[in-house]
Amino acid sequence: MTDLLLDPVRWDFGQFDDRTAKLLRATVDWFEKRGKATLTSDYHRKVYYHDFLDFAAREKLFATLLTPAAHAGGNPDKRWDTARVAALSEILGFYGLNYWYPWQVTVLGLAPVWQSDNESAKADAAAALEAGAVAAFGLSEKEHGADIYSTDMVLRPDGNGGYLATGSKYYIGNGNCAEIVSVFGRIEGVDGADGYVFFRADANHPNYRVVKNIVPSQMYVAEFALEDYPVGDEDILHRGAAAFSAALNTVNIGKFNLCFGGVGLATHALYESITHTHRRILFGRPVTDFPHIRSGFVEAYTRLIAMRLFSSRAIDYFRSATPDDCRYLLFNPVTKMKVTTEAQRVVTVLADIVAAKGFEADTFVPIAKVDVDGLPKLEGTVAVNLALILKFMPNYLLAPTEVPAIGTREDAADDEFLFRQGEARGLSKVRFGQWRDAYRQRADLPNVALFTSLAESFAGLAESGDATGADMDVQLTIGELFTLIVYGGLILEQAEVVGLDDDLVDGIFETLIRDFSAEAVTLLGKAGASDAQVRWADEVVARPVIDAARTDRVWQAVAELCGRYEMAD
Ligand SMILES: Cc1cc2nc3c(=O)[nH]c(=O)nc-3n(C[C@H](O)[C@H](O)[C@H](O)COP(=O)(O)OP(=O)(O)OC[C@H]3O[C@@H](n4cnc5c(N)ncnc54)[C@H](O)[C@@H]3O)c2cc1C
Repeated sequence: MTDLLLDPVRWDFGQFDDRTAKLLRATVDWFEKRGKATLTSDYHRKVYYHDFLDFAAREKLFATLLTPAAHAGGNPDKRWDTARVAALSEILGFYGLNYWYPWQVTVLGLAPVWQSDNESAKADAAAALEAGAVAAFGLSEKEHGADIYSTDMVLRPDGNGGYLATGSKYYIGNGNCAEIVSVFGRIEGVDGADGYVFFRADANHPNYRVVKNIVPSQMYVAEFALEDYPVGDEDILHRGAAAFSAALNTVNIGKFNLCFGGVGLATHALYESITHTHRRILFGRPVTDFPHIRSGFVEAYTRLIAMRLFSSRAIDYFRSATPDDCRYLLFNPVTKMKVTTEAQRVVTVLADIVAAKGFEADTFVPIAKVDVDGLPKLEGTVAVNLALILKFMPNYLLAPTEVPAIGTREDAADDEFLFRQGEARGLSKVRFGQWRDAYRQRADLPNVALFTSLAESFAGLAESGDATGADMDVQLTIGELFTLIVYGGLILEQAEVVGLDDDLVDGIFETLIRDFSAEAVTLLGKAGASDAQVRWADEVVARPVIDAARTDRVWQAVAELCGRYEMAD
């Protein structure tokens, strides 16, 4: 069972080509050689990660993994391959979000460039990456949050066919140093969508002012201001509605990394927690003899495996996407809001178990406790992603159709479709296969069977028109319930791919039944819930099928992780 979780020291990343495997190995080796003492003390002293960026530049880590084949200049190692982007996201998350973040915002900063028709900007970006540059994504503003329509970054015509950009951006990772800063703004005097523009800027330009780091952390999340920053035609990446779509499509690409960041972070916390707790003797016995401690570990482990299964399977849908098959657009916000909030739950359970150890300066759990909170809030909050997920619900639940079966995608292909996703609209038109198929195949497992009956009942609520309504507070709970069905479906698909043993599959669905019941109770108590919703919620609260012997076998798998990974000092 242990191969189901990232084991950075033992894994050879042999599922990838040689160069990729070497890069991932080199990244792990860099962290391990530098050691846990530096990792933790740099974290607490808020030391900026120059050394990591130097390493990444030296190894051409970002250049190799983030340059699409079309701009690789014939270098066979360069391509945009979501499987290896995900693998590096998981590794960086494993060592902490402060290392994941500069990589993540480089992904975001590059996406508007790679989506553009501006060939010289793309060539410049490829050259800058090759030379070790990072990128930044300048979308958010201090006053406007998720309301990106209201940008105050204004481009004033300069009288010579170009523009002078003035305005500021807030919460911009790498905004202190990126040579490639993709900035979203609008052209003065042009109303509506026609006025939107994405342009490139360079943090080293004299008219680019880094105001401050707005977070008290190792990472640099900048406020920056452009003051009459010259923007020529050669700097324009997108105009009009296409600029808006580029912003949303960029977030589609970038937010996928959040789930792997969360999986990595929680995995490291699990190794540290089980190793500490299983070896600790209290009242003459290992702490793990306490039933509630065992139950907490089984819960954390089961949730973590589920997170990793779902996220891994979602990769395949990303990589196989076409203009006619956009199922990834549903799985992506699920990875974003569900997997990241599951990471929070896992870390919370572990933190409760290790107690005081989770406050020590030289351990990883305190880092995970603080940083895990950021993941659900980046690239759209939980609420924003749930609102997206709800758009897919009618087609997913009630109108399944014939769609191609998607296999596992670990091949060395370039995922060029991600940079031509087209207009960011039509989510409610995306079609899915029969969601019941994956569930039917494991109907032999008691908790899968029980969860399927709950899902059927929810589909019945949707069919009768009682799952929709105008009250967003209620709709978000409906969204949580629907998400569990989508989550379970992909987990079952990936469980089959990896041959997951039945104990874990059934254990995962035990957890999903508890979560489903909890959401039903939430719905029951909502002021805005309709009578039909309240009646339905009252009926579906269910007790999962408990099997003490199965739970104990899963516990044994967790216990085997004791001492399996300890970061070198
Ligand atoms: C550490 C960090 C790093 C970041 N890095 C970057 C970066 O590099 N580049 C960048 O451009 N941005 C970055 N961001 C900004 C981030 O993407 C925003 O936080 C996010 O877009 C939400 O904006 P907000 O936090 O201001 O919340 P607001 O938009 O002010 O939202 C307030 C509340 O309203 C809810 N809400 C808003 N709109 C909706 C809706 N349509 N439906 C339902 N609920 C809604 C939200 O859920 C939230 O609870 C970063 C943020 C942080 C914290």
